[in-house]
Amino acid sequence: MSDRYQDFASSQIGKFLVKNLGLPSPMRLERYAAGSPLVDGTVAVGGRGRLAESLPGILEGLDIASTTATDADATYKGLVFDATGLTSSDQLVALRDFFTPLMRSLDTCPRVVVIGTPPEQVEGAERVAQRALEGFTRSLGKEIGRGGTVQLVYVAEGAEGALASTLAFLLSPKSAYVSGQVVRIGAHGTTVAGEVADWTTPLAGKVALVTGASRGIGEQIARVLHRDGATVVGVDVPQAASELQSLMKELDGDWLTLDITGKDAPQRIAHHLKEKHGGVDVVVHNAGITRDRKLANMAPDSKGDRWESVVAVNLTAPERITRELLDQQVINDNGSIIGVASIAGIAGNVGQTNYAASKAGVIGFVDSLADELDRGITINAVAPGFIITQMTAAVPFATREVGQRLNAMSQGGLPVDVAETIAWLGSPGSTAVNGNVVRVCGQMMLGA
Ligand code: NAD
Repeated sequence: MSDRYQDFASSQIGKFLVKNLGLPSPMRLERYAAGSPLVDGTVAVGGRGRLAESLPGILEGLDIASTTATDADATYKGLVFDATGLTSSDQLVALRDFFTPLMRSLDTCPRVVVIGTPPEQVEGAERVAQRALEGFTRSLGKEIGRGGTVQLVYVAEGAEGALASTLAFLLSPKSAYVSGQVVRIGAHGTTVAGEVADWTTPLAGKVALVTGASRGIGEQIARVLHRDGATVVGVDVPQAASELQSLMKELDGDWLTLDITGKDAPQRIAHHLKEKHGGVDVVVHNAGITRDRKLANMAPDSKGDRWESVVAVNLTAPERITRELLDQQVINDNGSIIGVASIAGIAGNVGQTNYAASKAGVIGFVDSLADELDRGITINAVAPGFIITQMTAAVPFATREVGQRLNAMSQGGLPVDVAETIAWLGSPGSTAVNGNVVRVCGQMMLGA
């Protein structure tokens, strides 16, 4: 499925009209190709704080070239600034001093990461300065252009050694459609990262469950987790059995056809994973449905109950399945649970009271479990914005156009962008990334 406006805007006549009429000009985003280096260029590192000394070593471990001797005449693919040393508002000028001379030295689709200390962990003037970083990064995300992304990563005291998997994601094209995000590392207990022997296959030897895996975003999640080395167990409804089976055969995976809202679905999934795979490492609750209607028209009708079906698939089923997998100890140590929320669950949307309630509930589910989980198990969620799929292709043209352009990148994302974000959260290197909700929305203006 292509973005016809983007195709037009990059044609010769399109370029002329875009320039002269001041229309949005979406940049073709670079995306990760298996086997390519994580970063195709050099990353400039600056700032003085808890991480300044270790950052070059972390990047070297990821085979990412970096330099601390910045030169405004050079070209950089990424910038990383350690702001953990900023303890008062007058010191924030260090951001300007580092970034301003380099803003014209950035390559296409550049990556910017600012590292801070979670404000809730410090007090007084330091807390103020650390909180200020959020406004800086979110604004830079909106002005960087050229397909660039900007993120803030709050690293808790003691979690300095757990940063590699997050930098591997945020500095690479894997995070093409993730921008303006605030990620917390080590905020919920675990501050150490699991071993990753090979960054090209971080999920080698792991088992991943993906619901709704036969098409759309779920299919891409299955493909990316397989690329990263996992054995994927796909779940989908019996009506999607043939698509599911052919995909899982292609990926050397396994499948289970059932309706996740079925009474015995949690037990069947738990039994299957335990008996056939000895457990599961990554659980992705992707299956979801919409049944849009304004609330005034939401009463059950001949087409069924729009409210109950949406909440049952999107929220109650993930809750019940997770509970069963935890109670039966089917999720292995250091495993991860990943929910799929939505921008609708953050900003709200006309005609989607049912859907938005279910998706905000997914965020509540993350909040409720993040502190409760043990054995190194984590829970996080992704919140996709406008992703180009069969679901959004059905949206009327004008609404779709507005939906696609209302973000800092002036375009919709691809299913693979959601999948890459999930692969990062599911990596054994991300055991200190817990309790986060990461938007995959090109920094959408809604609910910002
Ligand atoms: P999709 O409709 O293309 O795919 C959903 C899959 O879930 C289908 O294969 C479907 O058969 C399966 N499924 C539905 N009900 C099921 C059930 N009861 N049991 C088992 N499987 C079931 O949708 P998509 O666009 O790929 O969306 C995937 C997820 O991403 C959903 O949770 C959706 O809410 C969320 N999301 C999508 C977008 C977007 O722009 N496409 C935006 C935000 C969030």
